[in-house]
Amino acid sequence: MNTLLLKELEQAAGKNYVFTSSIDRELYSYDATKERRVPEAVVRAVDAGQIARVLALCSRHGIPVTPRGAGTGLSGGSLPMCGGVVLDCSGMNKILELSPQHMVAVVQPGVVNGALQQEAARYGLFFPPDPASLDMSTLGGNVAENAGGPRAVKYGVMRDYVLGLKVVLADGRIMDTGGRTIKNVAGYDLTRLFVGSEGTLGVIVEATLRLFPIPEHKAAINGFFSSARAAALAVQRILTSGIRPAALEFLDNSTLKAVSRMGLHVPQGAQAFLLVDVDGPEEVTIRHLERIRSLMMDHEDRALQTHASASPEEYEEVWKIRRSVGPAVHSLGSGCIAEDIVVPLGSIAAMVERTAEIASTSGLYICCYGHSGDGNLHVNIVYDKERQDQAKHAWDTAAMIFDAAIALQGSISGEHGIGMIKLGFLARGIDPVALDVMQRIRRLLDPAGILNPCKALPEPEAGMIPGDAP
Ligand SMILES: Cc1cc2nc3c(=O)[nH]c(=O)nc-3n(C[C@H](O)[C@H](O)[C@H](O)COP(=O)(O)OP(=O)(O)OC[C@H]3O[C@@H](n4cnc5c(N)ncnc54)[C@H](O)[C@@H]3O)c2cc1C
Repeated sequence: MNTLLLKELEQAAGKNYVFTSSIDRELYSYDATKERRVPEAVVRAVDAGQIARVLALCSRHGIPVTPRGAGTGLSGGSLPMCGGVVLDCSGMNKILELSPQHMVAVVQPGVVNGALQQEAARYGLFFPPDPASLDMSTLGGNVAENAGGPRAVKYGVMRDYVLGLKVVLADGRIMDTGGRTIKNVAGYDLTRLFVGSEGTLGVIVEATLRLFPIPEHKAAINGFFSSARAAALAVQRILTSGIRPAALEFLDNSTLKAVSRMGLHVPQGAQAFLLVDVDGPEEVTIRHLERIRSLMMDHEDRALQTHASASPEEYEEVWKIRRSVGPAVHSLGSGCIAEDIVVPLGSIAAMVERTAEIASTSGLYICCYGHSGDGNLHVNIVYDKERQDQAKHAWDTAAMIFDAAIALQGSISGEHGIGMIKLGFLARGIDPVALDVMQRIRRLLDPAGILNPCKALPEPEAGMIPGDAP
């Protein structure tokens, strides 16, 4: 970035909020993918007006802008792949309003998910979206990725909780969408368009989020199974039993081995694990837990053993294995492709089996675990990062996993987004007409192509969009 442009940027953003030293730029060169790309400048966002001035300037000069929350993204969304400016929104971290009466919170984008959970709890409320990164990731990043977590099986994902947004568009205009009502059908649903848009359509500067009453009681049960198929069949039985679990998590054999390496006890012969969480009035959760135990045990392919919680301490104990999966899997190798395919509910068993087949032919260590209650499985492919041939083989294997999910009418991403990591794979599983419409919407909202370029959608072919050079 030349000196003249830098001066203009400082005028737009405020001199104290622009950082160009190599240390500052290095600090914004990474995210949770462990890939690196150094920006030319960093702007710390302070308010909508400042962001509007920065975006208008960058649009005029064609400077790429990468919005960033906490940088916990797993698809490279906050990496400045095309250089330019990283716009750090983490400092805009105020809960502007928490209304128990309307059961909504109005937040700035840099509020950490867990901070909202804590504040809402003071009013007997909770915010259901619970990505495992909730103590680090920001609500702006959660909206931009349409994040979800174990509770999605019962409560849904971010998109189900965003009632309204304030967004700064690429040309510097500030737009309000939606509001604070649960129903609203006046005009197109622009709020939903921005949820999951991965920082490519505008910068989220405020979100109005729906809150729920904290469930009176929660309880959990886990079970070990002698095969992944037996566990997957139990998942089907639970999902069709009429009970709506608050979480339904699955671990395959490779994941159990990783967990047992950390010193946690896994019974002999266990090849798969399920964790089921229920919430609601105490007497209902007790009844549901008993019924779920029977759905796990009273069948030909019964669980080897189950453990249900009867106290808050035991509840944590029942969850312990599931909570240890992240560190256990990431300690397995220097490289790990952490994928998040999703399949329809009836295809979970088939996807688990196909993943095991792909693992055995690839020769790579693959852990498959995750949110089996909503069909969202994390397939983690472990490899040696120092070996170029293994990295390529791991990505070829990931492509087979994506194809398997698509063949089952699933999708290549249920949570983490496309970012830059899965850009080359998106066209495989998406209708070409839908992709064309998405590219046109992006171009309409960001004609200069400054917002998070090289991410989320492949570039349209030249000449396909009006204004493009043929
Ligand atoms: C240990 C760990 C566990 C995780 N578990 C889960 C999980 O269970 N479920 C899940 O869904 N994800 C999970 N993730 C992924 C990640 O935490 C989520 O994608 C999260 O939503 C990213 O939030 P962030 O604040 O870190 O955003 P960043 O990583 O900084 O950015 C993510 C994307 O959002 C865009 N963005 C950020 N702020 C704004 C804004 N204000 N306006 C417009 N665009 C913006 C960025 O440009 C980028 O494209 C996990 C990650 C880690 C490291």
